[in-house]
Amino acid sequence: MPIHVDSCSRRHFLSTSALLGGGLLTRFSLGAAADGDPESYALLSDTHISADPAKVLRETHLCDNLKAVVAEVKGRPKRAAAVFLSGDAALNDGQPGDYEQLLTQLSPLLGEGAPPLHIGLGNHDDRANFRAIVKPRGPATIESKHVALVEGRDVNWFLVDTLRFTNKVEGELGEEQRQWLNAALKAHADKPAIVVGHHNPQFPPAAQAENAEATQVKHTGIVDTELFVSLLESHRHVKAYIYGHTHNWSHQRRESGLHFINLPPVAYVFDKARPNGWVEVTTTPGKAVFKLHALSKTHPEEGATVELALGPTS
Ligand SMILES: [Zn+2]
Repeated sequence: MPIHVDSCSRRHFLSTSALLGGGLLTRFSLGAAADGDPESYALLSDTHISADPAKVLRETHLCDNLKAVVAEVKGRPKRAAAVFLSGDAALNDGQPGDYEQLLTQLSPLLGEGAPPLHIGLGNHDDRANFRAIVKPRGPATIESKHVALVEGRDVNWFLVDTLRFTNKVEGELGEEQRQWLNAALKAHADKPAIVVGHHNPQFPPAAQAENAEATQVKHTGIVDTELFVSLLESHRHVKAYIYGHTHNWSHQRRESGLHFINLPPVAYVFDKARPNGWVEVTTTPGKAVFKLHALSKTHPEEGATVELALGPTS
């Protein structure tokens, strides 16, 4: 990791953050953990940070929630190999001040010796403002989207960008990104793959196509879901698609064996019974275990795990 920090000045901090925002790298290899030692990752989603550090939305103090999560990630006995934030980093429409505040709040996870951090984009982000403030490292792999490949020891992480229009609910991979993903997956078929984006898959209601009501279902997820999921399922080494957006921690396994894991939000939930928090992933050559760290330690799902076999890729 090319990290050089010798000052805490604001200017220096921002340029350091730029180095750490590794999202635009075509290929990014992590320092390998010792064999047999699990490698761990921190997965965050939907922080919804405002320029105003006191902002409260839906009875949730946004910066306080992120502070608590950052402290937990930082306090884990084993340092994460990488930290991913899967979109809706900003409050509503991705203002420059939102990203400045986000970097301030993430500062305990930045700096010398810190794991690489990738910030993905959701429908409440603005790609141009994000690039201007966070200054992700390296040239854009594809100009239209903010993508990255992070090579772990047991798993390769493909970080996609489903932001379609800022502050419009639905998302999209788009043709250019699907082509990039297809080629990148093909070129890295020797190791299990996990794809991380912001929006949820949403299949059209095909079975009731003649039903006029069904065809009017509102698009809130990925508009090119069928193309995206069939792309994922055409690569047998793709084990899971991970996303946020619905603020609803959940898991499902498709008939093909592909897992969908919906991350909890760091910020507010839409249904008060659901947990907010973050997810820690530990990988070994045979499996990846996703563990919920709920912000409320008394939540019934605190500590819940989802296990993925990373077995043979054929
Ligand atoms: Zn959100």
